[in-house]
Amino acid sequence: MREVCFGIDVGGTTVKMGLVARDGQLLEKQEFVSPHDVEEMFDNIAVHMSEVMSHFPDCECIGAGIGVPGPVVNERLVRGCANLGWGDVDVAAELGRTGLPVKAANDANLAALGEMWQGAGRGCKDLVLLTVGTGIGGGIISNGHMVAGSMGGGGEVGHIPTGYHTDWQCGCGKYGCLEVTASASGIIRAARQFSPFREAKRVTAKDVFDAARDGDENARRVVTEAGHALGHCAAILGCVLNPELILIGGGVSAAGRPLMDPVEETFRQEVFGPCSNVRFARAMLGNDAGILGGAAMFFCE
Ligand SMILES: [Zn+2]
Repeated sequence: MREVCFGIDVGGTTVKMGLVARDGQLLEKQEFVSPHDVEEMFDNIAVHMSEVMSHFPDCECIGAGIGVPGPVVNERLVRGCANLGWGDVDVAAELGRTGLPVKAANDANLAALGEMWQGAGRGCKDLVLLTVGTGIGGGIISNGHMVAGSMGGGGEVGHIPTGYHTDWQCGCGKYGCLEVTASASGIIRAARQFSPFREAKRVTAKDVFDAARDGDENARRVVTEAGHALGHCAAILGCVLNPELILIGGGVSAAGRPLMDPVEETFRQEVFGPCSNVRFARAMLGNDAGILGGAAMFFCE
């Protein structure tokens, strides 16, 4: 029998799940709107799992790896998810009804594991993934293992203090986190200080990148500053973890060289010499990273 595993990415708006084979092939994907209620969430997941399995009678499912947007302890206990309105939830107990072994992890950490297994990090055992979107998430793989930390807060790179915009409050309550400068919302906020963005009705991070590419000085300054802040944090991570690869994913990574040049420039300036052997690359798996990471919790053990 062919061995398969579920990877499940529980987000604030949708749940994405997929059945994955041991060779990394994604056999079937499903997506549904995230229910607010915890019970309903896991009922829906269990129903989708048995429906998907009914399409693959010749496969043996060995488990379900599930990513959630919050800290996870002991690969099962979620310590609150603000996006989902969850308190403490024991994911393994909730999905126990499926009779399958269940493992849970923080979604950003799981995305990093997915990239290591089937994405831009193939062949690497030490890598960091920075997911730069509306906020900034991060996942750390050290010697082939996810770094969840003692309370599940490992890899929260978006909240490293940077020294930029130290008077801007982050969603976490602190000031000057990486996220307030280098996330899409931070980039928009910074651009809003200047024309033509100050007067515009609606501004997206892509508008700012496009303007930077077209030579707008203010836009270029904003994007460069976001790159410097990311590069500064990359240098800190470089000194602590000495990864061989730092992957940049999320919507903001589409900015390309105007962002990545200052990232790498600041990194090279600031990182400790013996830790400077880092390659930078774009993450590859996009929305599938969490699904493949969930499966990797079983197939990469
Ligand atoms: Zn913060």
